[in-house]
Amino acid sequence: MTRVINFSAGPATLPLPVLEYAHDEFLDFEGTGMSLIEHSHRGAAYAKVHEETKVLFRELLDIPDTHEVLFMQGGASAQFALVPMNLRAPAQSADYVMTGAWSDKALSEAKITGDAREAGTGKVDGKYTRIPTQSELDLDENAAYAHYTTNNTIMGTQFHYVPQTGEVPLVADMSSDILCRPIDVSKYGLIYAGAQKNLGPAGITILILRKDLADRSPDTLPKIFRYSTILAGDSLQNTIPTFAVYMVRNVLRWVQDLGGASAMERRNREKADLIYGMIDENPDFFRCPVERESRSIMNPVFRLPTEELEKTFIAEAAHAGMVGIKGHRSVGGIRTSIYNAMEPSDVERFVDFAKAFAKGAG
Ligand SMILES: *Cc1c(COP(=O)(O)O)cnc(C)c1O
Repeated sequence: MTRVINFSAGPATLPLPVLEYAHDEFLDFEGTGMSLIEHSHRGAAYAKVHEETKVLFRELLDIPDTHEVLFMQGGASAQFALVPMNLRAPAQSADYVMTGAWSDKALSEAKITGDAREAGTGKVDGKYTRIPTQSELDLDENAAYAHYTTNNTIMGTQFHYVPQTGEVPLVADMSSDILCRPIDVSKYGLIYAGAQKNLGPAGITILILRKDLADRSPDTLPKIFRYSTILAGDSLQNTIPTFAVYMVRNVLRWVQDLGGASAMERRNREKADLIYGMIDENPDFFRCPVERESRSIMNPVFRLPTEELEKTFIAEAAHAGMVGIKGHRSVGGIRTSIYNAMEPSDVERFVDFAKAFAKGAG
């Protein structure tokens, strides 16, 4: 078996020990004579997995009692629609900080069912290349909530501060950087994240909801879409994608074994420093379009001198066993997604390759 080094933005690489563990017990889950995915979502075998996953989240992100961990389906994209439908009253508006393609989508979905406005932007000359500072935000103190995207998977930018929104609940799309570092959950009304970037396979969305906000879910919303239903039903109101939750649990155990969220942050900064170091040390060949203070430690992006060279670079990297580095089609260039699971030694290999390529082409 030869596994490649997978820099894909999502679904993304998972820790090899996690895949091997699932592989080993796939046919017979803990001596029950059947696979976990053949067990009832209401049975004892799955119940343990469900509970442990929530407990691990609570421990790893130091989640206070005011908040609950929920699991939903439909990806982060479903939350673009469900956040306003649950948290915004008919007469209210909601604030959106605009920092990339996913913020654009979140805002446009929110506008379908009511009022929503831009509360700041990271656009410079028509491109999202930076994160606005707190003083650049234009917040409405009567907003139902203020929404932002903590890490912009496509643009390669990331918030390195938590916006202050006063009494207005802060809502964060953390799909591509949840658990990449410690966070203060008490500052948030709602955090949501599709699992397939930093937590596990596609199929499950994790929500960390301040429980009092579930009271806002209106009776006019079908029950299955209400946060109040999911909270009251412990995310088991209907059949949950049990395998996805199980894989997330295995990833969380792995994170815990490595030392938790602060260990992840050290590991991620080490990898990001390798890539940004390579870019900054070779300014004639590599160029990062993102403002320095706004650089993502999850999805570093960069350009080569020409698109022709970028094509050759991607092809030669693939030949050397490194895949998934083509930038998103909307922005081009190179993107190296280096989520928690990416090994520092694999990033070193990539950087060695990139430096040799620059030398050869220069
Ligand atoms: C990938 C991504 C999404 C979309 O996630 P789906 O689960 O495919 O809906 C939303 N927001 C961010 C920041 C993402 O990286």
